[in-house]
Amino acid sequence: MPSSRELQSWSLAIDDTDSLQGDCTTETMFSFLASAGETLKLIDFPHLIRFNPNVPWKTRGNGGVSIRFQATRKDAEEIFEELNRRLPSASTELNRNPGIVLIPLDAVKEANVQKFYHKIMTRVVLLDEAIELLNTLAVSYLGKGTKRGLIGALGASIASLNDFTFELLTYRTRDMIGQPRKIETASVLRFEKKWFPRIFNSYDIDNDIPLIAPRGKDPVLFGLRGENPLELLEAYRDLEIYEPVAGGLIFKTNQGTDQHLEFATNKLIPFQAFVDTGIVISPPEDLQGGHVRFLTRSKFEKFEYWTVCYEPSKQLRSIIRKLIPNDEIEVAGGVRNLIIDKRITINLERLKILRLEPGMIRENPHCPQCNKHLTSKGKGQGFKCKKCKKSFPDAKPTLRKYDRGLHPAIYLPPPSAQRHLTQPICRYGIGSKAMEKYNQELFYPISLSKTRENKKE
Ligand code: ATP
Repeated sequence: MPSSRELQSWSLAIDDTDSLQGDCTTETMFSFLASAGETLKLIDFPHLIRFNPNVPWKTRGNGGVSIRFQATRKDAEEIFEELNRRLPSASTELNRNPGIVLIPLDAVKEANVQKFYHKIMTRVVLLDEAIELLNTLAVSYLGKGTKRGLIGALGASIASLNDFTFELLTYRTRDMIGQPRKIETASVLRFEKKWFPRIFNSYDIDNDIPLIAPRGKDPVLFGLRGENPLELLEAYRDLEIYEPVAGGLIFKTNQGTDQHLEFATNKLIPFQAFVDTGIVISPPEDLQGGHVRFLTRSKFEKFEYWTVCYEPSKQLRSIIRKLIPNDEIEVAGGVRNLIIDKRITINLERLKILRLEPGMIRENPHCPQCNKHLTSKGKGQGFKCKKCKKSFPDAKPTLRKYDRGLHPAIYLPPPSAQRHLTQPICRYGIGSKAMEKYNQELFYPISLSKTRENKKE
């Protein structure tokens, strides 16, 4: 065990410091880092880690935040205390129960630690499980209120990312929070056209929705998601922004990586991430509210479930409507706590069409003389030709193949309806990537007005 004076690497994480009344966990970290400055020896980008998107008590995107730094144990504990002092208090009304965790970075690799990480990505974790692990792992930890924030803080502290993306988050000045954001929409559309796919999910073109800015009292001005932090900093200057920017922070993140689906199972347990190969067994039906559902039977297990594509998934619903019984598909999504006709419901996040049943349509046979379609005389009574007036008691209907207008592929909801963790199609094939070497300065808050001026020079 290193002595208290030896330099060591640490992971310090927080969660649940936010509420819908104007706070955000990433902003708590941004303002802490802005005040700590470079006396804090960061060794990596701050991490923004999204967990199981199906937990019902999340405020927005179920994310926790961590930093990785070098310090002696004594200094690390002081840094923990400093960040702790900045955490907001717990609030039942705001559903806010902050948690903070300090662990030695080496612990992240341990098998039981990674087992917990897989669990937090895909299932509902009990607070006791988190505390049990924290008791063996953490040098310091503290939970306020119900202490639930400890779960996400532990998750963010132990995140291990083979594939990752970056998000440049920018923050509003205090006086602007709550006022409409002054970002020119047309510039966001131009931005998407210029930077996609290196920077993705900035604008949902098909539905005409800009995606970089949250709504309401959130202190985030906008976020840009992409493959490379330097590109994010360059691209930012293409946006037309007419309000002051308090600063920005680049996060390394599991957003856009499908990490939750990577570890998911086909267990039908409410609030879990779910992936299953199944067979369509009922024709899709439209529901009130614009949702579409169909029954799926698991290919390898003896159970059936409703796969539901909800209204916000927009264009994906027209793909779903074209499915027919016996199509083989992979359903990925979240298990809902909703049972209809004794079958549980899956909220569809991603559809893979694996094999399509040939589309066959039944047609009446043709008249051998005039080639017109015959008409049926009733069940079991054969056909007759309206033109030639002849009967054909033994004629049988024929089957004609039709074009299904579908092909085996991966289908996602439009960007406006995707989870933070959903891997956009443009990222398929990346799988895992090596971390490049970046200038340490990029790990700290960035003055974006300076970045703009730099460009003009
Ligand atoms: P924001 O994105 O604005 O930071 P949020 O969507 O991350 O908000 P929180 O307010 O942090 O939401 O609430 C999520 C809560 O769920 C946290 O307390 C976190 O510890 C807890 N949590 C996260 N993942 C799990 C999980 N898999 N099982 C149980 N609890 C979880």
